[in-house]
Amino acid sequence: MKPLSEIFHKSNKYDIYKPRVIITKRKPAIATCKDIENKISLMLKEMTLEQKVGQMTEFSIDIVNREFDPSNLDAHFTLDEQRLEQIASKTMFGSMLNAPGRAISADEWNKAIEKINEVSLKHTSIPTIYGIDAPHGANYTLGSTLFPQEVNIAASFNRDIAYRVAEHTAYELRACNIPWVYAPTLDLARKASWPRLWECYSEDAYLSSEMGKQAILGLQGNDPNHIDQYHVGVCAKHYMAYGIPYTGQDRSPSYASIAELREKHFAPFKSAVDAGALSIMASSSSVNGIPMHANHELLTIWLKQDLRWDGVIVSDWADIYNLYMREKVAHDYEDAICLAINAGVDMVMVPYDTEFCKMLLKVIGEYRISMERIDDAVGRILRLKFRLGLIDKANTRVEDYPKFQNEQTRETSYRAAIESITLLKNEGNILPLKPHTRVLVTGPNANCMRSMCGGWSYSWQGDIVDKMLPNGTTIVEAMKSIGGDNVVYVPGVEYADGKDFSEERNINIDAAIVAAQSCDVIVVCIGENSYCETAGNIHDMNLSSNQQALAKAMIATGKPVVLLLNEGRGRIISSLADEAKGIIHIYLPGTEGGRATADILYGNEIPSGRLPYTYQRYPSSATTYDHKVSEHMERMSGAYDYEAEVSMQWEFGHGLSYTTFEYSNLRVLNGSEFTAGDTITIAVDITNKGPYKAKESVLLFINDDVASIVPDRRRLRSFEKIELDINETRSVTFDIKAEQLALARNDGRWYLEMGNYTVECGGLSCSICCKENINYGRNI
Ligand code: BGC
Repeated sequence: MKPLSEIFHKSNKYDIYKPRVIITKRKPAIATCKDIENKISLMLKEMTLEQKVGQMTEFSIDIVNREFDPSNLDAHFTLDEQRLEQIASKTMFGSMLNAPGRAISADEWNKAIEKINEVSLKHTSIPTIYGIDAPHGANYTLGSTLFPQEVNIAASFNRDIAYRVAEHTAYELRACNIPWVYAPTLDLARKASWPRLWECYSEDAYLSSEMGKQAILGLQGNDPNHIDQYHVGVCAKHYMAYGIPYTGQDRSPSYASIAELREKHFAPFKSAVDAGALSIMASSSSVNGIPMHANHELLTIWLKQDLRWDGVIVSDWADIYNLYMREKVAHDYEDAICLAINAGVDMVMVPYDTEFCKMLLKVIGEYRISMERIDDAVGRILRLKFRLGLIDKANTRVEDYPKFQNEQTRETSYRAAIESITLLKNEGNILPLKPHTRVLVTGPNANCMRSMCGGWSYSWQGDIVDKMLPNGTTIVEAMKSIGGDNVVYVPGVEYADGKDFSEERNINIDAAIVAAQSCDVIVVCIGENSYCETAGNIHDMNLSSNQQALAKAMIATGKPVVLLLNEGRGRIISSLADEAKGIIHIYLPGTEGGRATADILYGNEIPSGRLPYTYQRYPSSATTYDHKVSEHMERMSGAYDYEAEVSMQWEFGHGLSYTTFEYSNLRVLNGSEFTAGDTITIAVDITNKGPYKAKESVLLFINDDVASIVPDRRRLRSFEKIELDINETRSVTFDIKAEQLALARNDGRWYLEMGNYTVECGGLSCSICCKENINYGRNI
């Protein structure tokens, strides 16, 4: 008898074991600029080792802030010039980051960074590169409009919004003399309780990649080798798989198969590199037991070598130190430094330790890190500075930015909020409200700017937003400006001031019950207060008990209740969702979020957002929309009548409108069979059958029916946002390359597999068929 493997190959129509190999040789991710490379070589020859080590070192501005006091956000910022001089002469540092506790004015930014550059130039002849977290606008500058957070941008399903928000952000940062931004966040929001979920675009790799790409183009412009004075360099973060901490707690270990790493978590970073991302930040956590900062395979092989990427890898906050203090993969700090630099980290966010350089010099002297690796790291950092134009012109000044903080920024923020707000439920068309409807507005999020902006808003935790924006428009204020005296506000529950986002006060549900008697509709504004990183860790996904009690009491009045969700992650509301008549998710819509929310509630604007993550129904059976098909199973017959059910409150992609869109005629325009190299053109007709002109997010899913590894139930492969007049019909066409239907296997390679795929759009479906097996290698 022939060997089984041979029989299997010959007889299996899905001949997955002998695919045709198509491996395309990659060009450098960013075209090599000879002029820059020549200058880097010359500089590397002339620099001392101390200067090189200094370039690899990044300090927090805290170390030169005379008034540094993390517990006092009112403390005024004063640059300690003497200390700056001492540190520069001791370390020759090449980079600095962070805000001095809270937002400062553009003028203060200009002056501080100019001074830091002056001192750097004196000691090294090379300017500092200043970096900041600006995920939603110039959020550390006084007076800035804050855009909706990334999760909202993704909910808009509008690429143009991602681009425009980023473009404004870049302009405002350059006006502040800040050339480098720690954004976009490309982690996948796949762990529902993770406190950084709102910093991400989506649980879906494709949506995150598309939005990330637009953000990078908006921030950097079109030529990564020559960033102009209106754009900034990006630092995409946090590479990678940071968004799936096993416990849900921030900075805790992640576990994922190689297939999942390649197909899901790596994809947005590859797309970022293809879009020209100049730098990437390593993630604070470990993946499959290896801390990212020590992972040579993922940092150097996957990212730098495989993608031929010549950008900079920056460490996250103190994460080299953490290799021995927290992760216990190094015996001491020196050991940790060797591990990280040899793994591929180029710049180290130390961020306070002025002894770091001495230690790095020591381990280089002991030949534990090669000069070749040091020159590679420093070369990458110099390349970043050249690409940003810093070597030629170290500073930019606010006077040269006439559009700084103008009305257009505010309008862009408002539009982004409008397009992101997601109508989840609208029983009996309870919404939109009429201006004469008597509305009780209640709940802790109704009159709070802080909860609308989230973290990274004028301070790290976002806890001083209300103080910084005394004239900001909250939800209830914006509603009153439409409904006037028909809008009554009784908080029922309020958030306490201060850092602790979970603390609530002034619980007076009875007052809300009394007020409800004279109203027609109750809008209950619930969710979370602002938080950032580990400070936002929770152990219970349920909405707070006070807020649940308030919402239940409102439902018990018998008046129709609309829940307005304003939160960084989908806190469980399954005890309320069935009985509420209307539910709207506004996520973290930024400083213009109050106006946008009121305009949607009253129908001045029509909702068009869709969920960028799956809203969980139960805390203990959390899932994602692209879960494995095997997770849902009909009941088997027999004694052991197994079954499996996936239960979601609302699935990724869910979102309603006040109008009705009808989908018809889903079709493949160029034949339903395809092979590698083909582009499959799919079209669908959409008609606006309802009473309002409105926007619609059209989502195209293509799902592998049978695959060599258990297929995902659905996979988003494209999307488009359109606007339709009443009774207008439009055909939307999608061009899908065959390779977009490939899957990654556990050898880390991409495969296109023979067989049928189901195309799904707007509740319609059809089938297409792949006629060959392809192995594309590690990167398509
Ligand atoms: C965060 C990063 C951030 C860095 C600098 C870290 O704690 O994880 O996202 O960019 O601090 O502020």
